[in-house]
Amino acid sequence: MSGHGLNHFQAQQHTNAALRVMAELGVMSHPDNFQIFFTYVAKTNFDLCRTIDILRSNHRAFDEAQCEELHTRFFSDKRENEIIERISNDLREQLGSILDTVNKVGIDTRKYNKALDHFCSYVGDKNRDLSNLEHALHTLLGATRDMEGVNRTLESRLTNSSSEITRLREDMENLKREALTDGLTGIANRKAFDMQLREGMMHAMEDDQPLSLLLLDIDHFKKFNDAYGHQIGDQVIRLMAESLRRNVKGQDTAARYGGEEFAIILPSTSLGNAMLFGDHLRRYIESHKVVTKSGKTIIGKVTASFGVAEFRPGEPAAKLIERADKALYFAKENGRNQIASEKQIVEDEGSSKTTATESDIPRNIAAQ
Ligand code: GH3
Ligand code: MG
Ligand code: MG
Repeated sequence: MSGHGLNHFQAQQHTNAALRVMAELGVMSHPDNFQIFFTYVAKTNFDLCRTIDILRSNHRAFDEAQCEELHTRFFSDKRENEIIERISNDLREQLGSILDTVNKVGIDTRKYNKALDHFCSYVGDKNRDLSNLEHALHTLLGATRDMEGVNRTLESRLTNSSSEITRLREDMENLKREALTDGLTGIANRKAFDMQLREGMMHAMEDDQPLSLLLLDIDHFKKFNDAYGHQIGDQVIRLMAESLRRNVKGQDTAARYGGEEFAIILPSTSLGNAMLFGDHLRRYIESHKVVTKSGKTIIGKVTASFGVAEFRPGEPAAKLIERADKALYFAKENGRNQIASEKQIVEDEGSSKTTATESDIPRNIAAQ
């Protein structure tokens, strides 16, 4: 599955190939550009490869601006950082303006208090006369109107600030959501998966509950791409995500793990129950004919293979994923469109070779 896992020889080969492509395209050599083209030749990021291939087939120049855009899009959190910076600056400005207003009101309030004092002392003055009273009233009215004006300004400034702060909070929430959502399918992305899995493992240990992980991979997906093109391939991935969305409910999380690979986290679920759920989903997927959005292309049956493992308290996430991945590999080897559990795998010491054990459960769990 994913993860680079390159040996020294492959790394050297990719390095050479990346430098060759960069020279061929006239790309300036520096670390950011090298990262782009190393990833391109290693084919570890499908979207990046496709974007570069499209640019190349359109004979687009790979100048610095183009490369910088590629780097920002695929490697850096620059956009996210920019938004966070903007939100922080706006917030600072808002707070500054609120403080200014509040300070000003403080000064005006003191002025108003003084005017009131003055009026009270006049009323208490034995030598008061009518013209002085008229003057004192006039002053008090003026001060009261000023105060009213100040309060109105304060009110409108605070209203503005609070709507501005609400907008900033929405920006922030959108950003957070965007960072955890897969762009193609709208379900959780790999980052969200990592977070949810770690959180789920922690809860499982705290509450002494099981937790199972299900990995699934579309069978012979390359064929769809080859037969119908990448866009239809993308639609198949989207439809697969839709099937997951329909079937994965409640506290369970479905995520796009990689290109055409998905993961489902099942808290409070034993291996046995995860197998039942997975096989139910497998049959759901198998029984739904895939027709593209336009309805023109009928792809027919799309199937997927599943691997299931149950969390062992205290183990790192990578171990759990590895066992589910091995089970998935076993399901593929065994003929695809089926589900396999970690129980069907025995590990030879020091080797990753996998074989079936005698306690194999049936190839497909029978419909109940
Ligand atoms: P199997 O899993 O059954 O062994 O066969 P497969 O053909 O699905 O195997 P493999 O995992 O080798 O191929 C997956 C292919 O999926 C490779 C890549 O070209 C394609 N792919 C990965 N991500 C995407 C994507 O986002 N969109 C499209 N259209 N294709 C993708
Ligand atoms: Mg795959
Ligand atoms: Mg596949």
